[in-house]
Amino acid sequence: MALSRLLPRLQPRPEPVPGPVEDAPVEAADESPRLQAVPAPAPAPLPEPEGALMARVIALANQKGGVAKTTTTLNLGVAMRELGHRVLVIDLDPQGNLTMSQGMNPDAIERSMFDVLVHRIPISDVIKTVEVDIAVASIDLAGAELALSALIGRERALDKALVEIRDRYDYVLIDTPPSLGLLTINAFVAADGVIVPVQCEYLSLRGLVQLENTLAMVRENLNPRVHVQGIVPTMYDGRTLHAREAIEILEEHFGDLIYDTRIRKTVRYAEAPVKGSSVLKYDPSGPAAQAYRDLAKEVLDGAQARDDA
Ligand code: ADP
Ligand code: MG
Repeated sequence: MALSRLLPRLQPRPEPVPGPVEDAPVEAADESPRLQAVPAPAPAPLPEPEGALMARVIALANQKGGVAKTTTTLNLGVAMRELGHRVLVIDLDPQGNLTMSQGMNPDAIERSMFDVLVHRIPISDVIKTVEVDIAVASIDLAGAELALSALIGRERALDKALVEIRDRYDYVLIDTPPSLGLLTINAFVAADGVIVPVQCEYLSLRGLVQLENTLAMVRENLNPRVHVQGIVPTMYDGRTLHAREAIEILEEHFGDLIYDTRIRKTVRYAEAPVKGSSVLKYDPSGPAAQAYRDLAKEVLDGAQARDDA
């Protein structure tokens, strides 16, 4: 199939040891044309202060819009919360869909992630507690890329802001805008891992090459530990040959990086945010909620395997 030749072959690889590595020396870039074929060297873990368990920071990213980044951030976060973890979700998209999906109006929010990134106010000042803790976006986040671009350390603004709260959460999930601009780069610099929601369509798969190229640049220059930890097939309609073939191509190229959970296409995911709630609250016993519980277990199992390694 012509398209499949355009995709990189990401090899599943051992997870790097997590740990705070700010300002760790940047390792030599992976020179292989096969992206990520060679595992990035694991940065040496720094000793952690006793009793302080640091959050694992996960960016949900795909520069294509409408692939379920926001839906996955919220519902995965709520499912992790149900399992007893301390979870913070961060709305880093100027459209503020994540904020809206928890029943808040981004137009009416006074202080938001914009102020955290640009004016360096503490992130705890913009965290609201709803189904999970959420650091909210407002409409002025749209100006953040421009405002940040003039600042020194513009790519590390989010990473720095998270220092304050890293020991208060087990997982921090970042919802990113549909672009690979400075906001998404900030998420990659702060992140330990990236989860990529992908719509089960051929055209959606192409963008993964560009995403991986951007990540490779971030690894080389800013954050050697960041990597794709998993790919979630979303809006899956198993009745169509097209969707089944898209999954086959994904599995052929990304192997074990593809989660087993398929997020099926259903209107429940669009209905829940209208009520300001996750699908786990909106329809707790339905299959749409169960899908994100299954995904949460897979993501947490991956984290457990890493801790045991
Ligand atoms: P993104 O954040 O990537 O732009 P969203 O999470 O906002 O994507 O999803 C785009 C739209 O698709 C929203 O209206 C959302 O409710 C809907 N949606 C998300 N996941 C599914 C799904 N599995 N089936 C059907 N619709 C979905
Ligand atoms: Mg979104």
